[in-house]
Amino acid sequence: MKAINGLSGHVSSQKAADTIILAKKCRVASWLREAYARLAAASSLPLSEVAGLDWQTQTYLYYIRDTAKSRATMKRRCEYCELWHLAGIVCSDTGAYSDLVEEVFKEELSIDPPPIPSPVDMWDY
Ligand SMILES: [Zn+2]
Repeated sequence: MKAINGLSGHVSSQKAADTIILAKKCRVASWLREAYARLAAASSLPLSEVAGLDWQTQTYLYYIRDTAKSRATMKRRCEYCELWHLAGIVCSDTGAYSDLVEEVFKEELSIDPPPIPSPVDMWDY
């Protein structure tokens, strides 16, 4: 866990797609959550940004982007920023994106971090 915490600063500054690939490999849900939310809420998401990801992940990300705005405005008053978006005002709250990331990637985000080897295991070879 210490190594993961140490890497977190580095991870948040690299390309989100690279973070996702690394997070899937290392099974770190917090990195996935952060990177998915970053891509979902980005003002634009060119295909080149998601090129390294599998099709399902790409589709889910575009689904979230497509759904978040209408979700925020589904009720008469936006349930995230509490404004009226009727005049095409873009919601500045990223709550809808974060909620959708949790829903869509639910299974993946519930992964457990890898077990930390105990000192006993480390000497046991
Ligand atoms: Zn809003």
